[in-house]
Amino acid sequence: MKKEIRFEQAAKAVAMTASGVGSRASFRLGSVLVHKNRIVSVGVNSYKTHPVLATRTQWPFLHAEQHAIIRQGLDNCEGLVLYVARVLKNNDLALAQPCNVCSDLIKEVGIKQIVYSIDDGGFEGYIVS
Ligand SMILES: [Zn+2]
Repeated sequence: MKKEIRFEQAAKAVAMTASGVGSRASFRLGSVLVHKNRIVSVGVNSYKTHPVLATRTQWPFLHAEQHAIIRQGLDNCEGLVLYVARVLKNNDLALAQPCNVCSDLIKEVGIKQIVYSIDDGGFEGYIVS
């Protein structure tokens, strides 16, 4: 579907333009939350200890999915679709299936579908149940 491809590209673009990525990072992750064919939130992977987060949480390194969800608000994610793209240093796409921590969060906030990049440069996804 054309519309889905657009959001996948948006997730990739977010990852590619992610700021604050350390020079040692071997990849970048970008995430967008979509509601009725509109992007409502974006997130990027963070490898820096955010000074504010560091005072408030024991896990100051945000994953792109968590970043997008927190920006949207945990109570405002019901029924949304999450797109995640992992971009390597050479700008190729790689597997971006959410980790267990993110998967639990995604389920808990009521996101209905996940679409993530895979190693052959495409995307696949599943309905959250
Ligand atoms: Zn994660």
